[in-house]
Amino acid sequence: MDGTFKDNDLSKVVAADKANVWHHLSQHKQYETSDPRIIVEGKGMRVWDQNGKEFIDAVSGGVWTVNVGYGREEICDAVRDQLMKLCYFAQTAGSIPAALFAEKLIDKMPGMSRVYYTNSGSDANEKVFKIVRQISHKKYGGKKHKILYRDRDYHGSTLAAMSATGQHERIAQYGPFAPGFVKVPHCMEYRKHELGLEDLSGAEFGRAAADQIEKVILEEGPETVGLLCLEPITAGGGVIEAPEGYWERVREICDKYDILLHIDEVVCGVGRTGKWFGYQHFGIEPDFVTMAKGVASGYAAIACMVTTEKVFDMFKEDPSDHMSHFRDISTFGGCTAGPAAALVNMQIIEDEGLLENTTKMGERMRANFLKLQEKHAVIGDVRGKGLFQGLELVKDRETKEPVDEAQAQAVVGNCGAQGVIIGVTNRSLPGRNNTLCFSPALIATEEDIDAICDAVDNALTAVFG
Ligand code: PMP
Repeated sequence: MDGTFKDNDLSKVVAADKANVWHHLSQHKQYETSDPRIIVEGKGMRVWDQNGKEFIDAVSGGVWTVNVGYGREEICDAVRDQLMKLCYFAQTAGSIPAALFAEKLIDKMPGMSRVYYTNSGSDANEKVFKIVRQISHKKYGGKKHKILYRDRDYHGSTLAAMSATGQHERIAQYGPFAPGFVKVPHCMEYRKHELGLEDLSGAEFGRAAADQIEKVILEEGPETVGLLCLEPITAGGGVIEAPEGYWERVREICDKYDILLHIDEVVCGVGRTGKWFGYQHFGIEPDFVTMAKGVASGYAAIACMVTTEKVFDMFKEDPSDHMSHFRDISTFGGCTAGPAAALVNMQIIEDEGLLENTTKMGERMRANFLKLQEKHAVIGDVRGKGLFQGLELVKDRETKEPVDEAQAQAVVGNCGAQGVIIGVTNRSLPGRNNTLCFSPALIATEEDIDAICDAVDNALTAVFG
């Protein structure tokens, strides 16, 4: 795999794409005068497009997915062997890889006990919402049904997952939404003035930000709230880490009002931040964890909803009542390619020490970015953990006014021209996606990290001077 294609002419493929494919998140008018990028091959950290141009992929397949890198023969071999043996059977029955991966996964998640297989992050989150609604019916006469979600967080593209999403660009024009979803404020320290908490700092700010959630619970009535759903580090909303003190207070609030805590690890899960899961940095135990992207690094479509024995046990009560169990199914939760790939994916992370590498390379990336911040006034904030980092670009460090989205996109375009694919995000403000984001594969080397940061340095100079 080196980007030299057999017939070296993919113009037919490009034409077929332009005539037939509707790309995700894309305004297609642009393709009347230009060609879409077709990614043809990948190996390690690198991909090649239809013109044979080589890129360092600093976003793991565009959306934080290919954690162990491209071209992993051991995953492909395991998937092929499993598909030949048994490609599919509904998860009403078990399968060998589903049992073995669940065992391995639970081993990495102290306090958790059951894995429910499904096929996308949105779908995994929907399972949690359904379980909470069913518990509300079972135990609280249907009253404790409300689901709290945070401003700037994203939980998926299906209707209920969108109803739990606090990002303008993802939800505008798609209402009306599902009832019973209530938004709570975020905890972004860089923009704490927007929360009216500019006088606080450190753990004091963290606790006060969490207290804003309690305020909403009291307004709604704690007896009506069943779930609080949060991203451990907000991804698409601008790479936002919670401040010190926040998570302990969140868990305390949930316990006080008998509210279940759901951590959406679709992006942070399976190594991205240097631990198996993002919440494991915070010293708390959630009631639900969902994961998708990195579970099998994109080699197969798999997502998981994981919960505790306590939640699971509620669905074993009253076995004579045929409505008492969780009456849910996802057809492709039974495709064995997913857990077969996930098992090897996790083994690779262990065998190659990729959690340690992620921490080390993340520190290097952050140090490089902090140096760039000294040089480029446009970098307002450097955020993130492990190989999940963001740079917020602002017109003025005092006012923190975001740069125009076109300028942030120009930085992405310039990096692309230099052969480095990066992303831009922050879906909360209309037209103001101003946060560059970076999530290289967990196999990244010092040279890869430095090459990515050099490209950003050049691009910022080209766009902002
Ligand atoms: N949760 C989070 C935090 C996500 O970032 C995403 C996808 N970007 C989802 C859920 C939805 O996952 P999927 O696209 O697999 O449905």
